Amino acid sequence: MEYGEQDMKKLFYPLLILSLLVFSTGCNIGQSKPVQSEDFALGTIINQEVYGANAKKASDEVAVKIKELDELWTINNQGGDINKLNNNAGQGYVELNPETISILKDARKIADLSGGVAFDITVAPLVKAWGIGTDNPQVPAEDVLKKLVTLVNYQDVLVDEATNSASLLKTGQMVDLGGIAKGYIGDMAIEIYKKNGITSAFANLGGNVVVLGNKPDGSAWKVGIQNPRGQNGEIVGVVSVADKAVVTSGDYQRYFIKDGKRYCHIINPQTGYPADSGLMSVTIIASSSTEADGMSKAFVLGLEKGMELVKRYGKAEAIFITNDKKIYVTPGLQGEFQFEDATNEYTYIQNR
Ligand code: AMP
Ligand code: MG
Repeated sequence: MEYGEQDMKKLFYPLLILSLLVFSTGCNIGQSKPVQSEDFALGTIINQEVYGANAKKASDEVAVKIKELDELWTINNQGGDINKLNNNAGQGYVELNPETISILKDARKIADLSGGVAFDITVAPLVKAWGIGTDNPQVPAEDVLKKLVTLVNYQDVLVDEATNSASLLKTGQMVDLGGIAKGYIGDMAIEIYKKNGITSAFANLGGNVVVLGNKPDGSAWKVGIQNPRGQNGEIVGVVSVADKAVVTSGDYQRYFIKDGKRYCHIINPQTGYPADSGLMSVTIIASSSTEADGMSKAFVLGLEKGMELVKRYGKAEAIFITNDKKIYVTPGLQGEFQFEDATNEYTYIQNR
C-alpha cells in the first residue's frame, strides 16, 4: 500500500502531537526531567519548562521578576510605573524604574518600524474606551473615538535615559504595554536562563512562546499554532524552532460580539476601531521576543501590508491566517512549518 503526502501527514502528525503531549508532561524517556512551573501574572498563565542543574533556581528567578514587572507595568496598578506615567501626562517627567525606561525605548523603536500605523503603545485611551476583555466592553460613539484618536502618537512618549525618567506630552495621553510586555519578559526570561547556565528551556507567556536552544535531545522545539476558530489548544500547524520567540496576535484572544460583529482587543491606532483587516491571526517568529510581540501588530494592517511590514523588518518569519481560512507562510519557514488541520477547513499557502 502506498501513502500519499496527506496520508503520511495523517499518520505522522498525531504522533507528533502525541510526542508533544508526552514531552510537556515531562515523561520524556532518557532525558533529565525538566522543572515545570505555572504562575499567573500579566493577566495570563505563565508556563516554564527548564532543563539543567540550575533549572529550579532559574525558573523561580523568572517567576519573581515577572511579578515585579507586572506590578510596575499593569496600567491600573496604583503606584506602578505606567500608572504614574499616565497620571502625570502633560505635566512633565516622572522618574521610573530603569526596566520601564528600557521597555519604553523598545516600544518606540518598534513603533518607528511601522511608522506607528500598527504598533503604538499610546492606543491606551482607545483600549480603555472599548473595554475589550473587561466585564463591560462597548462600542464607543464615533465622535468619542475621533477625539481619542488625536491623543494617539507614540512620538509623544518622551524618554530621558540620563535621569531614568519619561513623560507623556499631552494631558489625557496614556500608554498601555499590553502589546509588548509579554514579549519583553520573554526576552528577559531567556537572559535569566542563560545567566544560570541553562541551555534548554521553554516558556509560554499566555501564547507568547520563547525557547532557549533545542530540546535536551537535540531536536527542535515544536510550537503549535492555534486554530483561531478552534478550541484552545486546537492547532492548524506546528513550527519547529530553536533560540526563537513565537508570538501570536489574534482576534480570538480577547473580543466581544455585538450585533453579529466581532470586536477584538487589537486596536487600529489610526482609526480608533478594533482591527478589522481580514485577518484572524498573525504569528511572528524572531530572535527578539519583544520585537516579535510588536511586529505581531502587523495584524492591524491586513495580509498585504502586514506582510510588507514583516519583510521590511527583515528579521522575522511569519504566519498570517485570513478570515477565509487561508494560512500564508513566509518562504523562510518552509521545512519548519508543518501544516496540520484536523478540521479540513484551512488552506495552506506557502511562499508568501
Ligand atoms: P497582544 O496580546 O500581544 O496581541 O496585544 C494586545 C494588547 O496590546 C491589547 O490588549 C492592548 O492592551 C494592547 N494594544 C491593542 N492594540 C494595540 C496596538 N495597535 N499597538 C500596541 N498595543 C496595542
Ligand atoms: Mg503578544
